Amino acid sequence: MVKTSYNPFLTAQKQFDRAADLLGLNESAREFLRNPMREFHFAIPVHMDDGNKKVFRAFRIQHNDARGPAKGGIRFHPMETVDTVRALSMWMTWKTSVADIPLGGAKGGVICDPHNLSPFEQEQICRGWIRQIVKNIGPYADIPAPDVMTNAQHMLWMLDEYETITGAKYPGVITGKPIGLGGSQGRKEATGYGTIITVREALRQLNISPENTSASFQGFGNVSQYAIELYQKMGGRAVCVSSWDNDEKTSYSFHKKDGIDLTELTAITDVYGGINKEKARGLGYEVLPGDAWLEQEVDILVPAALENQITEENAPTISSRVKIIAEGANGPTTPEADPILESKNIFVIPDFLANSGGVICSYFEQVQNNMNYYWSKDEVLSKLDMKMTTAFSAVSDFSKHNRLGMRDAAYVISVDRVVRACQSRGWI
Ligand code: NAD
Repeated sequence: MVKTSYNPFLTAQKQFDRAADLLGLNESAREFLRNPMREFHFAIPVHMDDGNKKVFRAFRIQHNDARGPAKGGIRFHPMETVDTVRALSMWMTWKTSVADIPLGGAKGGVICDPHNLSPFEQEQICRGWIRQIVKNIGPYADIPAPDVMTNAQHMLWMLDEYETITGAKYPGVITGKPIGLGGSQGRKEATGYGTIITVREALRQLNISPENTSASFQGFGNVSQYAIELYQKMGGRAVCVSSWDNDEKTSYSFHKKDGIDLTELTAITDVYGGINKEKARGLGYEVLPGDAWLEQEVDILVPAALENQITEENAPTISSRVKIIAEGANGPTTPEADPILESKNIFVIPDFLANSGGVICSYFEQVQNNMNYYWSKDEVLSKLDMKMTTAFSAVSDFSKHNRLGMRDAAYVISVDRVVRACQSRGWI
C-alpha cells in the first residue's frame, strides 16, 4: 500500500545517485540532473456544478530536454504531490533515453479526484490547465499525454483549448488523443503490450516457454488490461489482478486458479479500473486482501498500479517460484526492496524500460501528426515491438557484459546518453 511518508522524488534521486557513481559523473552533471530544469506550479479555479468555486492545485515539471522536447503524462490524483511529479518527470527523462527516442522528460499533475467530478468540471480543469501553461508547452517544447485517471477525452479538451488560444492546428502538442482526431492506432495497447514484449524477451533468455507460466498483476487499468491481453495471447495464465476500491479506500485482489477471463472482468470494471467486488464473487473470483496479488505462487509479477508497492516489508513475502518482475507502473519498487529481489534471483525488468511502450507510441503519434499521414495498427505495433526489443536487448547485453542488474544497466545507458547530450550542448 502507498505509505504517506514515502517520497518518490527521494527514491528517484537515490537511483540517479547510484547511476552517477557507476558512471563517475562530475559535480556539475550530478547537480544538473538530480533536479528538474523547470517547474510550474499553478492554481485552476473551477465553477462547480453546485454553483460554488473550487481551486485545484496543478503542476508541470520539465526535468530535462537536452535530447529533444520534454515529454510526459498528466495525472489526476487526490494524493498527487509536487515530489511525485518531480520523480515522474525524472523517470521520463531516463525512459525516453533508454528507448532512444528524441525526447526529454516531463510530467504534470492536478490534485483532484475525477471520481467526484462531473464531466463538465473535468473539462474545466483540462482547459484551465492549458490556459496556465500554454506559453511553456508546445510540439517543439513539451508534449503532455494521459496518465493515471486521465484519458483521450481529457487530451482532446486540452488540445482544443491550446488550438483555440493559439489560433492554429497543432495536433502534435499532445498525445493520447482519440483515433480520428490525431490519435494513433495502438496507443491504448502500447504500454501494456510493451511490458509483455519485455516479458517475452526475458522468458526467451531464461529459456522458459510463455505457455508454461502464470502471472499476477497489480492494477486493472489501461496498462494491466492490455498487458493481460497480450500475455494471454502468448499462452500465459493470468491468475490474479488487484484494483482500488474507491468506496472503501483500500485495494482488493481477485483470484481465479484457472485464469481470469478478461472480457467478463472488464465488463464489471469502472472507467478508473475499479472492479466490482460483489459481481466478481458472483463470477467465481476469490476476493482477497489488496497485497495478495504479490504473494501468489506464480512465475511473473506485473505491478501496474502506482509507485511504492514492492517494499522491504513485503518483498520477503514474494514466492520463491517468481522468476520475473516486469514493472508496468512507474516506481513500484523501492531501492530498499531491490537487494531482496536480487537475493531471490528475480529478473527485474525496470519500470522505465518495461513501460516505455506508451511513450514510444506517443512519439509515433507525434511523427504521424507532423506528417499528417497515419499508419495502420499492425504497422504501429510492429514498430513498437522492434523498438521495445532493441531497447531490451541493449540493456540486457550491457547488464551481462558489465555484471550489473537490469535496473543499474538501464540507468547507466540512459543517464550516459542524457549526460552526453547536455555536455554537447555545453550545459555541464
Ligand atoms: P489507470 O488509472 O488506468 O489504472 C490504475 C489501476 O490501478 C486501476 O485498476 C486502479 O484501481 C488500480 N490501483 C490504484 N491504486 C491501487 C492500489 N493501491 N492497489 C491496487 N490497485 C490500485 O492507470 P494506468 O494508465 O494503467 O497506469 C498504471 C501505472 O502505469 C502508473 O504507475 C502509470 O504512471 C504507469 N504508466 C502508464 C502508462 C500509460 O500509457 N497508461 C505509461 C507508462 C507508465
